[in-house]
Amino acid sequence: MPTTLEIDEARARWRELSRADEQLAPIARFHQRWLELLASREAPDVALRLTGDEAERALEQGTPFLLAGHLEVDLAELDAHLRIAADALAQEGNGPAAEEAKRIASGADDLDVALGAALRGEAVSGSPTLGSLIEFGVQPALWAAAAQAVALVDLSRWSRGYCPVCGAWPLYGELSGPQRERHLRCGRCGADWSWAVLLCPYCGNDDHRKLGHFDNPDEREFLRVDTCEDCRGYVKGIASFTPASALRVAAEDAATLHLDVAARERGYERPGRTPDAARAGVPRSLAPRGGASN
Ligand SMILES: [Zn+2]
Ligand SMILES: [Zn+2]
Repeated sequence: MPTTLEIDEARARWRELSRADEQLAPIARFHQRWLELLASREAPDVALRLTGDEAERALEQGTPFLLAGHLEVDLAELDAHLRIAADALAQEGNGPAAEEAKRIASGADDLDVALGAALRGEAVSGSPTLGSLIEFGVQPALWAAAAQAVALVDLSRWSRGYCPVCGAWPLYGELSGPQRERHLRCGRCGADWSWAVLLCPYCGNDDHRKLGHFDNPDEREFLRVDTCEDCRGYVKGIASFTPASALRVAAEDAATLHLDVAARERGYERPGRTPDAARAGVPRSLAPRGGASN
C-alpha cells in the first residue's frame, strides 16, 4: 500500500505541475488534497482471492486477475475512501461539480452497488462527477490488488494489451533503459507489464510498415507517441529511469496531456477504433488465420 514516501512524492509532482502549467492547477490542487486526506487514513483491507494455479491459467488465457479471481473488500471502507475524494473535490473544486461533491461527501446516497461495479471494471451510471469520484474511491483497493497480483505471478509474462490485473487499456507506456524497453502502465490499478515497441496493444498489429511514431522536436529524448495505422490507436511513451509508483501515474499522464492533444489532432485515439480484446497483444503474424490464438 502507498507508503508515506510515495504519497509525498506524488504530491510534490502535482505541486510542480500546478506551478508549471496554470491549466493543470485546479486538477493538481484536487489531487494534492486527495493525497493529503488519503495519507491520514488506513489503507483499505483487501484480499485478492486467486490461487497460484488460477493465476497461472489466467496468465495463459489472458483473463485479468480481478475477473479470474475475486477481490474481497469491505464496501464500507471503499465508501469512506469515496467520501475522501468527494471532500477533496468539494474543497478544491468549484461550480456544480463541487456542489455535487459536497452532497456525495455528506453520505446521503448508498453507493455500494456502484462501488462493486467499478471494482469489476463495469461502467457506472450517473453523472461524470459521480463516476470519477467512484473511481477515486476504488483506486486504493485496486492498488492493493495489483500489489498482491505481483506477489502471485511474474507480470512480465502477461502477453495482452490490456491490464493483467483490472483489464483496463493502458494509459501510457514507460520507456526505460538504454534500449528504451517499453512497459505499459494502467491508470486504474497502476500495474505495469512489459510490451514490445513494435506491437499495437489494442489490435495486435505487428507490421512495422503500419506502425509509426511521432515526437515533439523540443523533447525528442523524453517523450514520443507510438501509433497504429490499422486501428488508429496511439500510446504515449514517457522516458523514465525507474517505474513511477502507482500513485504517480495520474500525474505523469497529466504532465503529457499535450501529447494526447497532438495525437487526436492527427486522428489517433486511445484505445484505437474497435479495440479487440481477443486479439489485443496477439501479434498478427503469429495468430492463426481467421482469429486469435486460444
Ligand atoms: Zn489495471
Ligand atoms: Zn492497432
